[in-house]
Amino acid sequence: MDMISALASMRALIDFTKVAVAARDDHQIAQVEQRLTRVLLDVTSAGLELQQKVQAGIDTERALKDRVRELEEQVADLVKRAAERERYKLAPLSEDVFALALKEECAGTDPHHHLCQPCMDNRGKKATLQRKTKGFMIYLTCPECSYDYPTGKGVSTQRQPLNYPSMGRF
Ligand SMILES: [Zn+2]
Repeated sequence: MDMISALASMRALIDFTKVAVAARDDHQIAQVEQRLTRVLLDVTSAGLELQQKVQAGIDTERALKDRVRELEEQVADLVKRAAERERYKLAPLSEDVFALALKEECAGTDPHHHLCQPCMDNRGKKATLQRKTKGFMIYLTCPECSYDYPTGKGVSTQRQPLNYPSMGRF
């Protein structure tokens, strides 16, 4: 029984009680006692049910607020990552080998460098490529995924001219 029905029963019982008392009828007064006990149980039950619904509403609201906070944090993180990603452009390191190069106009005080594109775009990791030599060849290696990007340059004393303007210096 919900609270409204319980209160309606209570009102009907009050009317019945008035009649019973006015008539001074012991049998009706005994009925009033029984009905009063039932109505009190109904009111108590309806009160508990209402309390549970209110608590469920509070729990739902709290869960929704937590979810909204999580989503706001995720959006802020995505906006920050998108802004950081905008600072870089895909650029060739050697023939058909590409990495993310810092745009000159976005460099600020950062030195020219390259990032691993799969780590940045697929895993959200900003991994600055580091120079590495294998044999006589120079590579740029990713500290996150350990991929070695061939630069097409050797470690000979004679430097090759840069064919790719965005390559910068290794
Ligand atoms: Zn990587």
